[in-house]
Amino acid sequence: MAHQWRGIIEEYRDRLPVTDATPVVTLREGGTPLVRSERLSAETGCEVWLKFEGANPTGSFKDRGMTLAISKALEEGSRAVVCASTGNTSASAAAYAAKAGLTPVVLLPAGKVALGKLAQALVHGAHLVQVEGNFDEALGVARVLSERYPVTLVNSVNPFRLEGQKTLAFEVCDALGRAPDYHLVPVGNAGNISSHWMGYREYLRDGVIAEPPRLFGFQAAGAAPIVRGAPVAHPQTIATAIRIGNPASWEKAVAAATESEGAILAVTDREILSAYRRVAADGLFAELASAASVAGLLQLSAAGRLDPGATVVCVLTGHGLKEPDWAIAGAAEPQVLPADAAAVAAALGLGDGA
Ligand SMILES: *Cc1c(COP(=O)(O)O)cnc(C)c1O
Repeated sequence: MAHQWRGIIEEYRDRLPVTDATPVVTLREGGTPLVRSERLSAETGCEVWLKFEGANPTGSFKDRGMTLAISKALEEGSRAVVCASTGNTSASAAAYAAKAGLTPVVLLPAGKVALGKLAQALVHGAHLVQVEGNFDEALGVARVLSERYPVTLVNSVNPFRLEGQKTLAFEVCDALGRAPDYHLVPVGNAGNISSHWMGYREYLRDGVIAEPPRLFGFQAAGAAPIVRGAPVAHPQTIATAIRIGNPASWEKAVAAATESEGAILAVTDREILSAYRRVAADGLFAELASAASVAGLLQLSAAGRLDPGATVVCVLTGHGLKEPDWAIAGAAEPQVLPADAAAVAAALGLGDGA
C-alpha cells in the first residue's frame, strides 16, 4: 500500500476545510496523469501538457469536489444527498453517496441525457426523479429539499465542491515544479476555472510558486454567456457538459480571467470536434466538452497569442466513453475479410511476410 495515491483530501489535507472529526469518503480521486503532447507542442511551438481528468474514479473532475462535499455531508449528519443534473455531477454524487452509505437523489430536468452518465447514476443506486420542468426548476426543488430535510445539496453551489476542485492547480504545480505560463480550461457553470484560480492564488500566497499562470476559459460559441455579456436563453452546443446559459460562478470566472491577465473566449462546435479528434490521435479519449481547452489552444496559437516556448496546460475535464456515439458517428464500417492472415496482411498493405 506504500505508494498508492491517497485521494485529494489526504494528499492536501492542510489546505482543505477538514478536521480529525471529518469522515473521509474517498475513491482515491485526483493524482490524474499530466501527459506531454509532442504533436501539439510541435504545432504550437509551446510545451503542451494535457491534464487528463477522465482518469478520475467516475471519469470526470467532479470527483475532486464530490469527495469533500460528501465527506462534509456525512460529518454534518445528512442522510441523503441531492443534485439536479443530467451529467457528470449526478454520476459522481451517486458513486460517492454509495461509498458513504447515503441515499443519492438525482432530479432530472426535461431534456436529453448522455447514456453513459445516466448508467453511472443508476448502477450506484440513485433515486432518479424526473421533474416536470427545466434545470433551474429542478435545482429549485433540490434547494428546498436541502433547506427543509436532512439532505445535502451537492450541485456546484455547494462551497466544498470548489475547495476540492482547486487541488487540480496544486497537482499541476507539484508535477511541473512551477506553475505553467498558461492554463486552459472549458467553462460551463464556471466553477472549475474559479476553483483553479483559488488553487494557484493559494500556492502563490504561500510562496510555493513564484508566478501564477494566465487563465483562459473556453465556452462553446452557442453557449457563451460570459463572452457575450448576457445570459443565453437557449444554449446550443454538441458539448453538453458546457451547454450552460447562465453560469453559477459567473463573477468568479471573470475575476479569475481578469486578475490572471487571461480571458474567457468562445470556440465553435467545429473547432471542438476537430480538437476532440486531435486529442484522441494522441491516445487520450476525452469528452467533447473537454476538447474545448485544446480547441482554445489551437485558436490562441493561430492568433499568435502564445509566447513561443511557453508551458501550457490544457485540462481535459471528462472521459470520452461517457458519450461514445461521437466516436462512432461517421466512422467507416469494418472491412470484412476471410479468417486468413495472408488476406488480412494483403489488405493492410503489409507485403509478403516471412
Ligand atoms: C462539469 C463539466 C464541465 C464544466 O465545468 P464547470 O465547472 O461547470 O465550468 C466541463 N467538462 C466536463 C466533462 C464536465 O463534467
